[in-house]
Amino acid sequence: MSTTRRKKRHSAVTFKPYAQHQGMLFLPSFEDLIPKDHIVRLVSRAIDGMQLDSLLNAYEGGGASNYHPKLLLKVLVYGYVDRQYSSRRLEKATRENINFMWLTGLQSPDHNTINRFRKGQLKDTVKDVFAAVLLLLLEEGMVRLEDYHIDGTKIESAANRYSFVWAKSITGHKGRLLAKINVLLDQIDRENDREESEAGKAERENDQDSSARPPIEDSERLAQTIADLNEQLKERLPKEKPLRRKMAELSEKHLNKLREYEKHEEKLGGRNSYSKTDEDATFMRMKEDHMRNGQLKPGYNVQIGTENQFIINYTLHQSPNDMPVLKEHLEDTKQQLASIGYDMPKRASADAGYGSEENYDYLEAEGIENYVKYPGFYQEQRKKIKNDPFRTENLFYNEQEDYFVCPMGQHLTYRYTSKTKSKNNYQSNVRVYKAQRCTGCPLRAVCHKAKTNRIVQINPNLKRHKKIAHQNLWSLRGIYLRQQRCIEPEPVFGQIKWNRGFKRFSLRGLPKVSCEFGLIAIAHNLKKMWVKLQLAKGLPNPPHIPPKSAQILAENAKNALKTIFYLVNPPGAPHNTNLKLQLVNQ
Ligand code: SF4
Repeated sequence: MSTTRRKKRHSAVTFKPYAQHQGMLFLPSFEDLIPKDHIVRLVSRAIDGMQLDSLLNAYEGGGASNYHPKLLLKVLVYGYVDRQYSSRRLEKATRENINFMWLTGLQSPDHNTINRFRKGQLKDTVKDVFAAVLLLLLEEGMVRLEDYHIDGTKIESAANRYSFVWAKSITGHKGRLLAKINVLLDQIDRENDREESEAGKAERENDQDSSARPPIEDSERLAQTIADLNEQLKERLPKEKPLRRKMAELSEKHLNKLREYEKHEEKLGGRNSYSKTDEDATFMRMKEDHMRNGQLKPGYNVQIGTENQFIINYTLHQSPNDMPVLKEHLEDTKQQLASIGYDMPKRASADAGYGSEENYDYLEAEGIENYVKYPGFYQEQRKKIKNDPFRTENLFYNEQEDYFVCPMGQHLTYRYTSKTKSKNNYQSNVRVYKAQRCTGCPLRAVCHKAKTNRIVQINPNLKRHKKIAHQNLWSLRGIYLRQQRCIEPEPVFGQIKWNRGFKRFSLRGLPKVSCEFGLIAIAHNLKKMWVKLQLAKGLPNPPHIPPKSAQILAENAKNALKTIFYLVNPPGAPHNTNLKLQLVNQ
């Protein structure tokens, strides 16, 4: 008898009815298929409610009929919400994805139309659309324009990674070419002089003296010199081969090359580099370094200001550094907010990469409270730095007589004021103090490394701003804003770059990539708004807490707050018991 028994089946297997080709008497409508609280409905409603006159005015009129700009805008914004950035994918989605089909009302613009709209009409009006979304957020009470957290990130351009032109190499090549041109001109002049003296001419016919000719510095001057020489030598040139060869070298080879270098310089516009395949992109160090070799890549510096993780404004820059672009960003924000009838936020917070005299001056002039860190903000709290008697900030300063005293008791007296200009033409005045005699001082090795006597440089205006920033940053609000800054712009970049996978632009050129980032910022704000609305709707009513449990909960909350604020204060922070007590008691 077989020992294996067949497993007894307790019930029959059933399948859901599947009749793919079954016809339907009443087809379901999109309204039934798309959930009432789907984000596509929010995108559609938000765009329908916008006043987009500037976008409508961007059309010239005439010719064949156009797709409605709101249709194309909805497709693009929802595409960016749905992580679809390519115009070909968007075209496909308008034929296959019911959300897009509902948005377009079953119209299907092709990828060229979508792309032409994105880099054409929308390019100049995307900021208006962004402002309209911001206005919606303000009306919903999701942003209040009180705190403005600023930060920047680099996003790679669509350009070829190896299409670089370096300013240094252009300057070097141009310098060598100019030297070569000037040598050649000297040779031509010398030959000319010799020929003339041989021909018995005591003086040259024209007034131009070869030895007095200023060196050539640009192509315009070289072209003029070549024309003058051709005129001067027109009788001799056909006869003298070496002279003719030199003139041909100047006009055909060197002049063209010089013009080429000048074109590069024009495109660089003061930058260190640019890409040949996207001339607005600058080579920058990116966080995403998959080759792990620190390779510079063509990209743009994106600056954003956030509140409650909503983007209040964005700007794109070609400079890889954050410090020189803050003023431009804030000016743009001011204009953007003024266009919807709002003032600048009351407070600005940013990391130490923005703490410059120029930026502090701008914030002060605009009446914005300064919560911007400065380089060395955390280091100055360390005991080692605080107690170092040789550091400039720890030297005794006599305000009445304007001198510093070094640890050996020597006076460092005022010598002169040095004036420096930033890239933005901002002038800083630095007062320079110098010790009388450091030779033979036993402390010299630990005091300074200069070969001369010790020099101390002080920028009184920057020192004053730093003092204000220090006071603000260690105030109750300052500590809160510093804590808040970590969870404001950084997660927004995380959302955009990692969750949405937007790590590289698809378009080329500053105006077009600005439009692309505008779309991503609009999509981010609408998605965030939708999430907040969903959360608000889903939250249950607050439970009724009996008085005794309420006391225990309050005690627990107080302890939690205590822990949080002990964590907020970094090691070595000034001990301020009152501050902690104030925080705990709130
Ligand atoms: S090296 Fe000069 S500045 Fe420094 S402690 Fe000595 S005397 Fe003073």
